[in-house]
Amino acid sequence: MKMTIGGKKAESKDKRTLDVFCPVDNQLLDAVPIATKEDVDEAVRMAWHGQKIWSKQPLHYRVDVLHKYIELLDEHKEEVATLMSLEQGRPYWQNIANIDNNVKNIIPGYLDVCKHQYGRTTLPGAYAGKEKDFQVVVREPLGVVATIIPFNSPINLFLKKAIPALAVGNSLVVKPASDAPLAMIKIVDLFVEAGVTPEAVNIVTGSGAAVGKWISENPKVAAISFTGSTEVGAEIVKNSSRNLTRCFMELGGNDACIITDDADINLAAKAAKAGRTANAGQICASPKRYIVHKNVAEEFTLKLVDELKTLKIGAPMDPGVEMCCLINEKAAINAENQIKHTVDQGAVLVYGGKRRGAYIEPAVLSGVTKNMDIAKDMEVFAPVFPIIAVEDDSEAIDIANSSSYGLSGAVFCRDFKRAFNIANAVETGQMVINWHSYYLNPDAPFGGYKKSGLGREGIMVTLDEFTQQKTITLKDILF
Ligand code: NAP
Ligand code: MG
Repeated sequence: MKMTIGGKKAESKDKRTLDVFCPVDNQLLDAVPIATKEDVDEAVRMAWHGQKIWSKQPLHYRVDVLHKYIELLDEHKEEVATLMSLEQGRPYWQNIANIDNNVKNIIPGYLDVCKHQYGRTTLPGAYAGKEKDFQVVVREPLGVVATIIPFNSPINLFLKKAIPALAVGNSLVVKPASDAPLAMIKIVDLFVEAGVTPEAVNIVTGSGAAVGKWISENPKVAAISFTGSTEVGAEIVKNSSRNLTRCFMELGGNDACIITDDADINLAAKAAKAGRTANAGQICASPKRYIVHKNVAEEFTLKLVDELKTLKIGAPMDPGVEMCCLINEKAAINAENQIKHTVDQGAVLVYGGKRRGAYIEPAVLSGVTKNMDIAKDMEVFAPVFPIIAVEDDSEAIDIANSSSYGLSGAVFCRDFKRAFNIANAVETGQMVINWHSYYLNPDAPFGGYKKSGLGREGIMVTLDEFTQQKTITLKDILF
């Protein structure tokens, strides 16, 4: 597939390409261009011009075009979901469900509220000498918004940036992950088909280290909305700092799941399976550390293993499959090494963990202690369940907060007063009581404390984040 620059399909200037493989069987799927610096600069220049045209269209027109986009996405959902399943190895039915959720809930949600973002006025007469002045505060788009997207859930993560960005009059330069660029190219092209100003939508492919860096350093980029690892996020902030580019960062996590001695252990085990095996554990807000009261740690471990034995592992197109492989074999080897490292530090592998190609079985590790890397900052992007037994709630909270991440978290506890106080004490952007931390409601602000991010995403907040406020003063206008 080719890139899209200024609404036209484009190869790279030097014709170099990058192969895209299916992680299930290593079959070559397609190739995408490796953009040169000239290609990236051209895409940003196009987006800069396109933004001037697109932002002059009335809001109701932009909203109508984006409603047309919903129709096109729905019409092409089988094609998009197939591309995603092949390049990423995620169950097909889950990709369809994700697109349906965008079509029915997420995109219409943004479009509903974007017509109801109101400006403000200051009160005339509040200060001596300004009695006859009138001030309005309006919101304007930022300009070119660059979105840099990870491999793990590209469609969802991209659309919750692209829809609000375009709705309020920004333009886009998109950089997909090199492991999963195909479905992204398809869904970006549908914006042009729907009627968005062609120059306002651009997608460039190639490595993050080169293409991502050139985007980050470009002075015509007004904002970078990034989802990915903390390490890369920090690099983007550094590379864009010379231009004081706004950076919105949705980064990594090592979410704690605290289970108290009065918890419903059956529910906790079911939620652990659902939350940690979804997308084979490759989810930012997946429950990644199980901090369990010592009196129920064994019961939880046994029930979790029973739940995992029912997991249907298979190929993405298999009907009823619950979990497939990781994004590539390298990622699975990395997870295998992280399990081994934790065992070397003293944990016991009580279930699973075997690897075959890019596939890795869910792995349960017991006897994990607070000083091990997995209990603090070692994010495992795979279905791995480290279980840390604790004496009391206070120790559980201390361990939860010992991580420099703070994205989401969960607490299982029947006493709501106790659960609420634990939720209050954990330093994260989200806490879920009696379900897992991978809980998404498109309305609510989502984002991290500490090294898990800067800014929030969600229907309540993103339209504000993608606009800037301007105060216009009418001097001596009032009688
Ligand atoms: P990643 O390695 O950080 O890559 C993310 C994107 O950044 C890719 O498009 C990558 O391109 C690009 N990139 C790499 N180096 C870059 C640079 N120097 N400058 C600009 N862009 C660069 O993340 P990943 O492995 O794809 O995804 C997993 C991580 O994302 C995990 O840490 C996970 O927790 C996090 N995540 C967070 C959220 C959230 O909402 N907070 C959601 C999902 C995932 P290439 O593919 O070409 O390297
Ligand atoms: Mg990566």
